[in-house]
Amino acid sequence: MPAPHVPGRVLVTGGAGFIGSNFVRHLLASDGSVRVVTLDAMTYAGRRENLGAAAGDARHTLLEGDICDAALVRALFAEHRIDTVVHFAAESHVDRSITGPAAFVTTNLVGTFTLLEAARDAWRAGAQGAPRSVRFHHVSTDEVFGSLGEADPAFTEETPYAPNSPYSASKAGSDHLVRAYHHTYGLPVTTTNCSNNYGPCQHAEKFIPTVIRSCLAGVPVPVYGTGMNVRDWLYVDDHCRAVDLVMRCGAPGALYLVGGRNEHRNLDIARLLCRVLAEATGVPPERYLELIRLVTDRPGHDFRYAIDAGRLTRELGWQPLESFESGLRKTVAWYLQNPWCLTVAV
Ligand code: NAD
Repeated sequence: MPAPHVPGRVLVTGGAGFIGSNFVRHLLASDGSVRVVTLDAMTYAGRRENLGAAAGDARHTLLEGDICDAALVRALFAEHRIDTVVHFAAESHVDRSITGPAAFVTTNLVGTFTLLEAARDAWRAGAQGAPRSVRFHHVSTDEVFGSLGEADPAFTEETPYAPNSPYSASKAGSDHLVRAYHHTYGLPVTTTNCSNNYGPCQHAEKFIPTVIRSCLAGVPVPVYGTGMNVRDWLYVDDHCRAVDLVMRCGAPGALYLVGGRNEHRNLDIARLLCRVLAEATGVPPERYLELIRLVTDRPGHDFRYAIDAGRLTRELGWQPLESFESGLRKTVAWYLQNPWCLTVAV
C-alpha cells in the first residue's frame, strides 16, 4: 500500500456551496495542521454564511473567483503553494441543467479542465517549488451511471457510465478528464462518486429543503411524477469523511463509490420529513402531510440510484455513521435554527 498523502495546503473549489462548506469545516476541525483556500464563484448556490466559523479561521482563506479563469487558478497555485485539490465546484441542479445546460458544460467540463491543467503545470516533476506529495481529488455523483430498475443490483466501480441529463453528462465528462490526466500524465488523482446528500447548508431548491420550506410556509409540497423514484441518501458528514479518507489514502487513479445503503422513495421521504418536522414544531403532522402534491415529472427523470460502497469499506475502512432518522432530525433542527438557508435565490 502506498504511503498516505499528507495534505498541507488544500484548495477546496466550491467551498461555499452545500457539501464543500461542510467539508471545509470538517477539515479545519479535524486536522490542525492544514491550511485551506476556498475558491468559489459565489453563484446563486454559494454563500459565505455556509462557511460558519471557518470564515473567520486564520487557517482559511476565501477567494471569490471562477474555476474557468486559468490565470487566476495558476496564480493561486503558485501563491498558496497548493499541494492538494478537493474539487467540489459545479453546477449541481438537474432541473437547471434541463433549462440551461450551457453553464453546466462550462463549469463542470471547462472548469475541471482548467484546474487539471493548473495542477499539472504546478506539480510537474522537477518544476521549481513543486511540492513533493500532491493529490487532486475529484468529487462526483452516482448520476453518471444512469438509472436502475427496481430489482437491479446497486452501482459498483465497474458499472459503465450512462448519464441521462445534461448535469450527469457534464459530470461524467469531468470524471473522464480526471481519469485521463492520471493515465496520460501520471497526475495523482482520486475520484469519489456519491449518492444523494442531505444535511445543513443544502440549497433551498433541492428536494429535502424544498419539503421543509414548503411545509413551514404552508404551501404545496411538490413531489415529481408518481413519487416512486428511489434515491440512496447519505448524511453530508459521512460524505465529507469519505472524501477526506480517499484524499489521504485512496490509490492514485482509483474511483470509490460512496453511499449509505439507504434507499427511499421520494414520496416516503416527503411523508417522513413531514412527521419529523411536525415533531420539531409541535404542529399536527396532518397539517404538513396534506400539503403533499404529485406534480408533472422532470423530463428523463432517472428512476432509481443505488450504491454499493463495498470497495471503500473493504479497502479504506469507511462506514456511514449517521442513521437516516437521526440525520433527518439534525437536518430539520438545523433549518429551523437557520431559516436564511431556506430562502430561494436565483
Ligand atoms: P452546490 O450547488 O451546493 O455548490 C456548488 C458550489 O460551487 C457553489 O458554492 C457555487 O458557487 C460553486 N461554483 C459553481 N460554479 C463555479 C465556478 N465556475 N467556479 C467556482 N465555483 C463555482 O453543490 P453541492 O450539492 O455542494 O455539490 C458539490 C459537488 O458534489 C458537485 O460537484 C456535485 O456534483 C457533487 N455531488 C453532489 C451530491 C448532492 O447530493 N448534492 C451528490 C454527489 C455528488
